[in-house]
Amino acid sequence: MSICSEWDKIDPREYRGIWAYLEVEDGVLGEGGLQMLGVARNLASQKDTYVGGVLIGKGVSSLAREAIYYGADKVFIADDEKFEEYYAALYAEALASLAKEHKPEVILVSGTMRGREFTPYVANTLRTGITADCTSFEVDPAVKDVLGVRPTFGAYLIAHIRTLNRRPAIFTARPNVFPTPERNPAREGEIIHTQPKVADGYGVKLVNKKRFSRGTVPIEKAKILVSGGKGLGSRDGFTILQEFAKVIGGEISGSRKAVDAGWITHDKQVGQTGKTVRSDLYFAVGISGAVQHLYGIREARCVVAINKDPDAPIFDNCDYGLIGDYTEVIPALIKAVKKLQARKTE
Ligand SMILES: Cc1cc2nc3c(=O)[nH]c(=O)nc-3n(C[C@H](O)[C@H](O)[C@H](O)COP(=O)(O)OP(=O)(O)OC[C@H]3O[C@@H](n4cnc5c(N)ncnc54)[C@H](O)[C@@H]3O)c2cc1C
Repeated sequence: MSICSEWDKIDPREYRGIWAYLEVEDGVLGEGGLQMLGVARNLASQKDTYVGGVLIGKGVSSLAREAIYYGADKVFIADDEKFEEYYAALYAEALASLAKEHKPEVILVSGTMRGREFTPYVANTLRTGITADCTSFEVDPAVKDVLGVRPTFGAYLIAHIRTLNRRPAIFTARPNVFPTPERNPAREGEIIHTQPKVADGYGVKLVNKKRFSRGTVPIEKAKILVSGGKGLGSRDGFTILQEFAKVIGGEISGSRKAVDAGWITHDKQVGQTGKTVRSDLYFAVGISGAVQHLYGIREARCVVAINKDPDAPIFDNCDYGLIGDYTEVIPALIKAVKKLQARKTE
């Protein structure tokens, strides 16, 4: 007996449509889900199929039109009291139930905290494959399957991954790598109210909710970032960077070595195992420019490197480079910016 005997039963030709799961944050569509609608639109046009958006929650029906404006042709809604609170197993079962009924070929989920948590449950329930943390997607020209593209072996290789013999093919995608599509209020689409089959209880009960307040802009949304690395030498280096960030209206982030040293928290880590940033301006201070770090700054518009080693790889990957000790360069920059600001207010 082999597990494959059951797995071989599906007929991929019965599956149509590229779905994007739409996470709802504080009553609005989350950015990650909108980014997935953009990806779905692109793939669907290559495969001549439709884009589906999936909304699960309580009171989410009012968001269906928005999903259409952002690219969905059909919106599948599971709007019910029982989805008021998010539980991974509950939401996974709901999405799996909808997929069983409507048979999409592909499901895309943004790799938010929630996406990363519940998507493997969906894949397991549907006994299908999941490719996590994709940074781009392609359609195989020969067989027309969707391929998830993602870095592997510490970002030294890029893997193109295809789900064989199973449908839907499920992918999570790295948040912030894909642009949010244009909102077009002239778009039209179909709204489908559904009642997914879910169990009554999951052995989990929410007793209290507390919002985690960072007090700062999350690095994935910051316009200006001042990022520190191991070259800062100690936690105190971040005090200097913090002062610079304050003067230029930016936020602090860092490399993995800075996080591993305990100088900043992991939510501020940039890179392959951290976050992808899209800031207009990115200062890399005392950061060597390892490939895993560069991965997280591909979408930054202007990178300024400050490093005392003229041969540091970051200088091959920046728009402006300042060779020098940051303890001298940063105070000089603070002074220069303050002088300019004072001149402006005169
Ligand atoms: C699977 C995997 C995933 C990873 N994910 C990530 C990730 O998400 N993000 C990430 O950042 N890394 C990641 N890494 C680690 C990565 O390979 C590097 O080790 C890391 O990015 C190096 O951090 P750094 O540049 O701060 O330190 P270093 O490489 O040690 O560089 C320090 C730099 O500071 C410079 N310097 C020293 N003193 C000064 C000074 N006084 N003034 C100015 N410059 C100075 C030095 O010349 C040097 O270039 C990952 C690695 C692996 C294997």
